[in-house]
Amino acid sequence: MKKTLIAATLTTIALCGAASANAQDIQITPSGSMPSIIADPKNFSGQVVVDPLTPSSVQSPASSGLVTFAPRARTAWHTHPAGQMLIVTAGTGWVQQEGQTRREMKPGDVVWIPAGVKHWHGATSTNGMSHIAVTHIRDGRNADWMQLVTDQEYEARP
Ligand code: MN
Repeated sequence: MKKTLIAATLTTIALCGAASANAQDIQITPSGSMPSIIADPKNFSGQVVVDPLTPSSVQSPASSGLVTFAPRARTAWHTHPAGQMLIVTAGTGWVQQEGQTRREMKPGDVVWIPAGVKHWHGATSTNGMSHIAVTHIRDGRNADWMQLVTDQEYEARP
């Protein structure tokens, strides 16, 4: 009886060991396991916090992060060499492509920014906004940053 129990325990340990060494295991990265980053004021206006979610990898050549903008906060004008997807998770935001008027974004909206398209995104003038940004990488770059969005550009009515 005792012998059987020990054998069973050893088998369980062996199975757990095999499971944790398996590259196919589901992986959960707990929320808050990576510190928040205050966005670089060279490339962002106002208060913007980036919570990194996933780094780019061989399997997934895109990085992702949750970006939270205070009211009036926004990115600078920029392009993405391989495109970017935004998924709005909270608040109300604006996104503008160069040569077009700004457009509103709401939670649940999915926004695709094609490679090379000059644009900015951020909160509205009255409400904060959070989005998950999935940014594709080409030649090690995910963005090419340009000038800050002026108040006049930001406030231009559609
Ligand atoms: Mn962008």
